[in-house]
Amino acid sequence: MGKYRERFIVEPGSKVCLKDRDASEHGGQASHEQATAELSDALAHIDDLQYRLYAERRQALLIVFQGLDAAGKDGTIRHVMSGVDPQGCKTAAFRQPTDEELRHDFLWRVHPHVPGRGEIAIFNRSHYEDVLVVRVHGLVPKKVWKPRYELINDFERTLNVENQTTIVKFFLHVSKSEQLSRFLRRLDDPKRNWKVSEADYREREYWDAYVEAYEDVLRKTSTEGAPWFVIPADHKWFCRLAVSQIVRETLEDMDIRMPQPTADLSEIRRKYHSEIVGHEEEAR
Ligand code: AMP
Ligand code: MG
Repeated sequence: MGKYRERFIVEPGSKVCLKDRDASEHGGQASHEQATAELSDALAHIDDLQYRLYAERRQALLIVFQGLDAAGKDGTIRHVMSGVDPQGCKTAAFRQPTDEELRHDFLWRVHPHVPGRGEIAIFNRSHYEDVLVVRVHGLVPKKVWKPRYELINDFERTLNVENQTTIVKFFLHVSKSEQLSRFLRRLDDPKRNWKVSEADYREREYWDAYVEAYEDVLRKTSTEGAPWFVIPADHKWFCRLAVSQIVRETLEDMDIRMPQPTADLSEIRRKYHSEIVGHEEEAR
């Protein structure tokens, strides 16, 4: 296992105390500059592996991103997937459910977005909101959200077993003070003004409740087939590097094999290309 995967994985069944995890850690990387080369190397590998995954069409990869507001979910998704062919890759963002979604079970809106064989799917927020924001704000009673951890594990296992789907889940761990600085930058930068939301500030009052809810998610739903990674996210460049490396290694472990050609290549060459070669020789 690579250094970041080993370092940030939540071992199934283990208890995570987020207070003890340093959100500003940068893995001994001295600087953004030093990380850049490593990042582009990882991205190039992801690009190549995705090409193979698409060709193979035997298995799928689901990448889940969770984190509090301004943790860097959008930017990380943009960077990590920057080199990937949009064919064979899809993203879904999960916001407040619609009336119709609320009339169904919480997984109903999620299932259509899981990756098909050969695909990578990225979730920007996910079914985990139904044990996070929903729990923190008491949007449903405890007896409704409590069984959901198990239902989630069953759902993810279904994807593992039924559809050869490898799942990795990233919790982008940002500190409360860094979140406030990012909110201020949104105010200061006209290009980011559209992101300013007073609700995000009010949500800070629930910080401790979110930490508790996240700790429960990490403890109850990090499984062999769908592990969680707690990624220090106060340094965006480090967060992107760690996520990219983990995605790369995950793809490498999937044992993706290029399919054998179905056509008889030498026969095709003889049948359709010998004439052209003949013409080319004439022309010379
Ligand atoms: P954003 O990711 O900034 O676009 O915000 C989306 C908002 O939708 C966040 O505040 C989420 O907590 C909220 N959200 C996502 N899923 C749910 C859900 N199942 N129930 C209630 N709120 C949700
Ligand atoms: Mg938001």
